[in-house]
Amino acid sequence: MKHLLPLIACLSIYLLLLIACTPTSSTSEATADNRPPNVVVIFMDDMGFGDLSSFGHPTIETPNLDRLAREGQKWTNFYTACSVCSPSRGALLTGRYPIRIGLGPTQPRNRVLFPDSEGGLPAKEITIAEMLKEKGYATGMVGKWHLGHLPQYLPTTQGFDSYYGIPYSNDMDAVEWSLKAFFAEPNINNWNVPLMRNEEIIERPTNQHTITKRYTEEAISFIQQNKENPFFLYFPHSMVHTPLFASEKFLNTSPRGFYGDVMREVDWSIGQVIKTLEELNLDKNTLVVFTSDNGPWLLMQEHGGSAGLLREGKGTTWEGGMRVPGIFYMPETVQPGTITDLGSTLDLLPTIAGLTGAKVPDDRPMDGFDLMPVLTKKAPSARDHFIYYRLQDIYAVRKGDYKAHFITETCYTLDNQRTELETPLLYNVNHDPSEKYDKATAEPEVLKELVELAAKYKNSVVAAECELDKGR
Ligand code: MG
Repeated sequence: MKHLLPLIACLSIYLLLLIACTPTSSTSEATADNRPPNVVVIFMDDMGFGDLSSFGHPTIETPNLDRLAREGQKWTNFYTACSVCSPSRGALLTGRYPIRIGLGPTQPRNRVLFPDSEGGLPAKEITIAEMLKEKGYATGMVGKWHLGHLPQYLPTTQGFDSYYGIPYSNDMDAVEWSLKAFFAEPNINNWNVPLMRNEEIIERPTNQHTITKRYTEEAISFIQQNKENPFFLYFPHSMVHTPLFASEKFLNTSPRGFYGDVMREVDWSIGQVIKTLEELNLDKNTLVVFTSDNGPWLLMQEHGGSAGLLREGKGTTWEGGMRVPGIFYMPETVQPGTITDLGSTLDLLPTIAGLTGAKVPDDRPMDGFDLMPVLTKKAPSARDHFIYYRLQDIYAVRKGDYKAHFITETCYTLDNQRTELETPLLYNVNHDPSEKYDKATAEPEVLKELVELAAKYKNSVVAAECELDKGR
């Protein structure tokens, strides 16, 4: 034994040296931990509450989105801030109701921006991209902007390093706007929409048959180029807004028909984004959010989506117009589950600030809440109410289980029917999500509280100068 002692001593010193010289896993983890998380926001156009298989559609297949809903959080009381495109998009990017940011229209015909509009999201508004640029993020946008197509309003003026996409709705610049054109065999020449890269038009009309495929390639390329630094990717698809288009590979593949084919391609696209994050080992350090800008365009019949069990669709303040699927996915950070508390696209800016340590603007009223405690601990949502604006009016408000309507409107026809109610309608939208059974007489105290909530907003929210009227 005695003669072995020098050998044991030598071995011990060798082992100590080996431990000291080997990089430990905690060192490399510390580097990864120090890197702020990435954020990807995927935003659909006119996709309804009932259009995902995970939200109950019987024949649309969305396996990639269903996986995110299962392994992340599926929000079933999640609201977009407006029932049409431009105001909804401005609110998502700024965390403020459209009326505060110049996107509360004064006239029904100006509810969104058109190719002859001269306005846009005002430069003084602070977007998620601008907020994250302050933290050194790379910021990219791929898809539909619809917040002003003139040079002073493009995404590159609102915090995005790069932009690729159709700057407004894919049914604009129509050669002839008619329902017949929407329902006919898809023809890109009917819609003379531009495709832009940064400030330049690179194609016109856009070949919309391949638009989902090309958006996806651009999104993947942006992620690959920025794999070494924190990034924010805002990825609003042009689909499933009519006119519908899908790549050859997806045509005639869905039992739901053409709309189902288009949904399958979008779902494939989301699968490609997730696969890219996984291949680059970025999936656990990236928050992926998926939602829609408004409910289904019911006027488009089978070419439009479905609000499922919710009443009405796009353009209205019924649940089908503004309640949309909400999915949050970030393995090991977002606790899997179904969340029935309230949330909104208005909450994305403060939530992303909560995740990244960025600073929420404190020089203006904000309408969003930080949802991070729900995402990470399933704590109760900080949002307990929501205001349903249409034009510059409060049509409805929700607090907790209940929703009161003061003005209603339908959208099945081209000439919407606006009704100012003498007595508000009251629904328990958790018991009765289809808004069928009026509780106004049975629950006067609840109604009183909601009337007061509406009055509080009406008396305190200041409407910004309307950008949607400019040039029209
Ligand atoms: Mg839309």
